[in-house]
Amino acid sequence: MAERTSKLSAIIHCKCPHCRRGDIFTGSMYGWNIQHTKEICSYCAQRIEIEPGYFYAAMYVSYAMNVIEMLAVSFLTYLIFGPLTDATFWHYLIAIFAGCFILYPFNYRYSRIILLHVLSPNIKYKPYYDK
Ligand SMILES: [Zn+2]
Repeated sequence: MAERTSKLSAIIHCKCPHCRRGDIFTGSMYGWNIQHTKEICSYCAQRIEIEPGYFYAAMYVSYAMNVIEMLAVSFLTYLIFGPLTDATFWHYLIAIFAGCFILYPFNYRYSRIILLHVLSPNIKYKPYYDK
């Protein structure tokens, strides 16, 4: 147990909240192989989808992330093209939709990670798995 994985590192690298060692997703975030959420951690055998439909709650997290991202993209568009007028309407619309589309895999992944690591008090970190 010399080196423990920090929570932040486990979140960034999408590791299991129980052991902070096993991967939660298969595939890469932006790859040709579509990412899937594993059902069971291959390192500590913690069930990742604790109960059926558990990841519906990730929708709310992903909604909040989307709102923040849309605001950020809108602000960037504002800096580049100026205030929203009839002339810049399509710039805003395309930038916001492109932002949502590009960030979709990121949101899929991190909404579940935030749900598992931050909003799930039932899954406790067990340091003895983390070695
Ligand atoms: Zn695990």
